[in-house]
Amino acid sequence: LPVVAIVGQPNVGKSTLFNRIINERLAIVEDKPGVTRDRNYAQAEWMGHKFDLIDTGGITWENGRIEDEIRAQAEIAIEEADVIVILTSVTNHLTDLDERISQMLYQTKKPVILAVNKADNPEQRMDIYDFYSLGFGDPIPISSVHGTGIGDLLDRIVSELPKDLAKDDDDQISFSVIGRPNVGKSSIVNSLLGQKRVIVNNEEGTTRDAVDTPFISEDGTKYRIVDTAGIRRRGKVYEKTEKYSVMRAMSAIEHSNIVCLVLDASTGIREQDKHVAGYAHEAGRGIIIVVNKWDLPKKNSNSGKDFERVIREEFQYLDYAPILFVSAKTGQNLEQIPKMVKQVHQNQTQRIKSSVLNDLLLEASKLVPTPMVRGKRLRVYYMTQVSTNPPTFVVFVNDPELMHFSYERFLINQLRDNFDFTGTPIKVIARKRK
Ligand code: GDP
Repeated sequence: LPVVAIVGQPNVGKSTLFNRIINERLAIVEDKPGVTRDRNYAQAEWMGHKFDLIDTGGITWENGRIEDEIRAQAEIAIEEADVIVILTSVTNHLTDLDERISQMLYQTKKPVILAVNKADNPEQRMDIYDFYSLGFGDPIPISSVHGTGIGDLLDRIVSELPKDLAKDDDDQISFSVIGRPNVGKSSIVNSLLGQKRVIVNNEEGTTRDAVDTPFISEDGTKYRIVDTAGIRRRGKVYEKTEKYSVMRAMSAIEHSNIVCLVLDASTGIREQDKHVAGYAHEAGRGIIIVVNKWDLPKKNSNSGKDFERVIREEFQYLDYAPILFVSAKTGQNLEQIPKMVKQVHQNQTQRIKSSVLNDLLLEASKLVPTPMVRGKRLRVYYMTQVSTNPPTFVVFVNDPELMHFSYERFLINQLRDNFDFTGTPIKVIARKRK
């Protein structure tokens, strides 16, 4: 998808605008451990046009110097985005910082749209003309808090989006390799590609370097590694910031069917690992946990089991994710990654016949009684699979309110016991039988 970045000095309202644009998606965020509401990257849609939105201001600079922060924002926007929105505020009037950001943006040939926020009333809307001097054409007055002018801004954004960026090839299995800096993502991707036949070389001069790399394995399976260039290229200062690497991970998760979450055997699990894992789970992606640098720890016969126990404790909601122990350095087990990706893809796209599901329901009802709430018992009539990737099942019941979390959990476990859903989340939705 094309990328739109919002830049601007602090307090002009970047995150309010960001939230306004992605509004609907935020509402569906689940409240689960490891899932955060604090995000600066999301998919957005306007009039049927989809794009990714980045709030560069959310990627805070460690030492907090404002010059560094605005420079980093501008650099990220220039590198990552197809369309840049520079946000200013009418209540601040034109500031020195607005001018400095603008100067950095003059270096890019990408479209830059100037929006003036906090233009809440007609009088304030008159003041936007001061901003002409920034040299980005007509300023668009908006009020992110009241929602006025947002439609005009989105119209402009959509009109500037490049045409047909994403060419999805359906017979390719897309996966991403994500994780904190230095866990070994680049090493893994490089050795995977080193052994395999890369199908096409990525065209030079594409606007972004978020380029996918397709390859074919020995058995003829076609894969696509999402955002490979972003993983392999390194060295920009802002890439070291945690928020940036989280944002990058979220972008990769959005664009892949399966996520390989790389952990470092020598450093253990960190907060950031949980954060991105929660996001992948919530997004319904297939997940494989890859423990890299397995050559480093001193091991005995229990080491694998011990590490696995820690992972299961720390990522309780990922109990379905397979764990691979690999070493990018020695090559140990690396060939398991594409094999497992293929297996998880089969699992997440399989369809189970309704007749089979209803046999399963019948068996399940013999095992555990359905829950009873205030004297009323849940009755389960029928189950059907409504979609794949992630596999989603609807159960028709007498009253959805009676569907207790533990019973839903029980049904999911029954599905897992009877079919191979390794690596993929499963959703069960209760609906009232009509
Ligand atoms: P990235 O930031 O996640 O892409 O990490 P890199 O691939 O750049 O690796 C970070 C460092 O870890 C480099 O010095 C690698 O040589 C080293 N490294 C990567 N994989 C392994 C491994 O399996 N074993 C060991 N011992 N070192 C590794």
